[in-house]
Amino acid sequence: MHSETDDPGKRAGATGRLTIDLSALARNYTKLCSLVTPARAAAVVKANAYGLGVERVAPTLCAKGCRHFFVAQFSEAQKLRPLLANDAQIFVLNGLQPGDEIACAESAIVPVINSLRQWQRWSAIAKYLKRTLPAVVQFDTGMSRLGIPAEECGALAAELSAQSNVEVLFIMSHLASADEADNQQNDDQSVAMERIADQFPGFDICFANSGGIFLGKPYHGVLARPGIALYGGAPTAGEPNPMEPVVSLEVAVVQTRTVPAGAKVGYAGAYVAEKETRLATVAAGYADGLPRSLSGRGAVCCMETRLPITGRVSMDSITVDITALPEGTLSLGSFVEVLGPHQSLEDVARDAGTISYEILTSLGDRYARHYR
Ligand SMILES: *Cc1c(COP(=O)(O)O)cnc(C)c1O
Repeated sequence: MHSETDDPGKRAGATGRLTIDLSALARNYTKLCSLVTPARAAAVVKANAYGLGVERVAPTLCAKGCRHFFVAQFSEAQKLRPLLANDAQIFVLNGLQPGDEIACAESAIVPVINSLRQWQRWSAIAKYLKRTLPAVVQFDTGMSRLGIPAEECGALAAELSAQSNVEVLFIMSHLASADEADNQQNDDQSVAMERIADQFPGFDICFANSGGIFLGKPYHGVLARPGIALYGGAPTAGEPNPMEPVVSLEVAVVQTRTVPAGAKVGYAGAYVAEKETRLATVAAGYADGLPRSLSGRGAVCCMETRLPITGRVSMDSITVDITALPEGTLSLGSFVEVLGPHQSLEDVARDAGTISYEILTSLGDRYARHYR
């Protein structure tokens, strides 16, 4: 782990090496495809492919046969369009902000319609352009976040049966608790979705996120929308993670020291050494995506040894207790593991009191990124 100077991920002077395993990503995609077959699997690549780098992630999945890509914002869709084959479709989950419709129609990007207002604007643009424009309609089945609420379904049905230049490719909804297999909300949303399917017969259904895929067939519809599972995150809380890790992160040691009992460590002296302690200062902090909530809770690893974070996470560094290591193991230029075989994404998320999604999407851009 130390001074691997021939490692292509070690950019000169880089203090963090973020490795993204594109072949593991591709295997995760293939696995999800086989779980949902005969339905198909899309890829959710919003937020720069959950922080992993959409320029590399999206073409990798496209090469594996993925033809449906979801982003959250129209600006993300515009960035994604040139990265994909022409027959790959891009869907904007949040739908369009007023004023983006013409650009969207011209760039062959498909908006998700979440409200009657978005429907009416998209339909008006289609008439103005004298074209039929594609759309996906999202229904709210109990999350109260995005989508047509139950009480507006009648009004939408009227819009659909009226002469309209909008072609609905499929209908969708989103699960709020899919990572909890036993949560009653999954059933409730599934029942609500069946009711909507009865009210809008003939439309294909897109329902499951990563967790939803593992809830089983009734949640698959014709198209699943996994995000986190592609990137190696656990789709179901509290169960062994069936996905392959995609991201690993090593960070450089800047300095080591031995402090006597009673020494204060880091901001506000939040940690006080109980005995003589060997410390290493490691070159990543909250500005690099190590949440400040890891203060006094998280750890890094050196081989099998867990090195607890002492005191507060700083902006650009953390201090870890290396007393458990043989003296001289770590020094300036050594690297320690933040994410890897000895500490998973889920471990770090748990220590930080957050979820894997937030850890991934916060990964800093000061790391040297290496795609494998
Ligand atoms: C983010 C998102 C997904 C992907 O969810 P994961 O839990 O990461 O699989 C799917 N659908 C919608 C609507 C989303 O916002």
